[in-house]
Amino acid sequence: MKIIDIIKADKPSLSFEVFPPKTSDNFESVMAATTEIAKLSPSYMSVTYGAGGGTSEYTAEIASSLMKMGVTSLAHLTCISSTREEVHGLLRNLKEKGIENILALRGDIPKDGLVSANPEYRYASELAKEIRDFGGFCIGGACYPEGHPDSENGVKDIESLKIKVENGCEFLTTQMFFDNNILYNFLYRLYKAGVNVPVVPGIMPVTNASQIKRICSISQNALPQQFVRLVDRYGDNPLAMKQAGIAYATQQIIDLYANGINAVHVYSMNKPDVAEAIKNNLSHIIA
Ligand code: FAD
Repeated sequence: MKIIDIIKADKPSLSFEVFPPKTSDNFESVMAATTEIAKLSPSYMSVTYGAGGGTSEYTAEIASSLMKMGVTSLAHLTCISSTREEVHGLLRNLKEKGIENILALRGDIPKDGLVSANPEYRYASELAKEIRDFGGFCIGGACYPEGHPDSENGVKDIESLKIKVENGCEFLTTQMFFDNNILYNFLYRLYKAGVNVPVVPGIMPVTNASQIKRICSISQNALPQQFVRLVDRYGDNPLAMKQAGIAYATQQIIDLYANGINAVHVYSMNKPDVAEAIKNNLSHIIA
């Protein structure tokens, strides 16, 4: 099924995310977690793409297994370290496996520099165009309510989103955020700029204090006081932190649905227990 049809439906949807293993040793445990999350019957599940593409086969394999379990899958694909020929090979592989949905991404610029001084793709919008020309996929892209760290300013960032959409992205999934007002403000700016594809908010349940450092490096703005107090109070108590993080994410999701947003994506990070707790908290809301 095409994801655009799921997120445009007049019914709340809830999707989850898994990431592939870095090495084959962990493949079985990732598949076990994926299977448990799939049993929750999410609207769809996304499978991320390892930085640099070294684990691309796992992304395709997990996305394909999800289809066999009856769950629509969204395979992520990055382009900054790939050649056109490699991208075409990957697209053929995804198509052969029956995968219909791709999240077209640039990927982070590797810390040790680009593989090529003259990369074949510089932006996700170029990959979106390539996938559109290849044909047959529903294409999504990433967006950043607080601005992408590399962008000069918010206006330029939204201009590049416009190109992404013109080049074939039918929906956008957001980077995590912890204050829904940031999302509402962003949606208004997209509307004013004429970017009118559905935007799926990405919600990260923070369930342990060690996640916070990474989040701060991604987040452009100060974290909300309510969130900071929660981490201050429960960061040293793993069970309490997990419970509080799930409650905070649930509260964000309910507020999004209440404000008319129908599709929400949860960064479930290979954690079936977290995905299940969130789904249970919303049982009547998404019924
Ligand atoms: P782009 O859309 O290309 O944007 C990158 C920067 O370039 C932005 O600053 C943008 O404003 C600017 N820009 C874009 N187009 C133009 C243009 N035409 N002219 C000038 N400037 C332009 N990473 C992974 O490695 N694997 C994953 O699976 C993965 N999944 C993700 C899922 C989501 C929902 C999100 C939000 C991010 C994900 N990432 C993933 C991280 C992502 O790859 C990085 O944030 C990366 O730095 C940017 O990717 P992008 O697709 O947003 O890039």
